[in-house]
Amino acid sequence: MDFRLYDPFVNMTFSSHACFLCGTIVSDDERIPVFSGWLQKRYDLGQKKLQLLDQSTLTFTEMQIPCCPVCAEKVAELDQKVEAASKTGLPGLQALEEKTLFLWLARMFYGILVTELKTEQNPLIKPEYSVGENPKMLHKFQSFFQLMQAIRVPIEFDDFTPCSIFMVELQQGEQKTEFNYRDDLTTMMFSLQLDNVLIIANLLDNGFLKKAMTPVWREVEGKVLHPIQAAEFSARVYYAAYIFNLTPDYFVRRQKPEDTHLIYDTLVDDITATIFNPWEHSVYATALEKFWLPWQISRNQILQNPESPLSFLLDAEGRFRELQEWEVPVI
Ligand SMILES: [Zn+2]
Repeated sequence: MDFRLYDPFVNMTFSSHACFLCGTIVSDDERIPVFSGWLQKRYDLGQKKLQLLDQSTLTFTEMQIPCCPVCAEKVAELDQKVEAASKTGLPGLQALEEKTLFLWLARMFYGILVTELKTEQNPLIKPEYSVGENPKMLHKFQSFFQLMQAIRVPIEFDDFTPCSIFMVELQQGEQKTEFNYRDDLTTMMFSLQLDNVLIIANLLDNGFLKKAMTPVWREVEGKVLHPIQAAEFSARVYYAAYIFNLTPDYFVRRQKPEDTHLIYDTLVDDITATIFNPWEHSVYATALEKFWLPWQISRNQILQNPESPLSFLLDAEGRFRELQEWEVPVI
């Protein structure tokens, strides 16, 4: 068993001829799609376009990463497990081992990240901001990549979960099949909507977000959310990720010759730092306005009461609101 780990961030080598997971040199046609093939098929994504940070666009079919046959097989196993689970919707996905779901989401997130980083390395293109040149970002991506090695090498995470994953059920809209995704590379956030299931994940927080959001999650878990509520919940998680201050480090435990897998331990980089920066309603409202764009609710409306931003998710007592219709109250 080959336990050697790979790290493309040491030299920032994202060659289109090096397997994204292990670095093996591959030919032009040894590539896998960033978004699982079954997703593209089920939601007819092939020719749909997605936009990169530099405003250029690619189709889902064009979003590919180099992958050697050995790693491609591991990715295919992961794909099949999630595809089978997703057939029964939320219960199926909830029954999946969290690590499987994490790695499946991680591969898509990473595929987008690498595509963005490659664009950044193109001297003709000036992105809005450069993730590759920021040491803090680099540290995050390296830690994240170390976790993602668990796709190809048997790795156990000892006594920790690397991520926070929330799954909620949405009220069924007019459309029967619906796919959406959203990401934020700097905060390691990724979400996917598969029909009436919304998956919202932070892929590098050792579960801190989920812990911090316990009071809200306790109300929301198991409920069926109106889309405007799901958008608000997403805004809360994305904003929490924005004020999350730590980057976990992972260490490989010393191996014994008979070991059949690697064990990772974790440490959070600086225990003197605050885990979360203070939650500021004014900044949160800016985030929420973006998530509520389809409903045209402005930041001013959200902040009518600056001490208590508008919420369709929770009532004044912090309990979940059953919601069929919504209206912005006038104070
Ligand atoms: Zn490989």
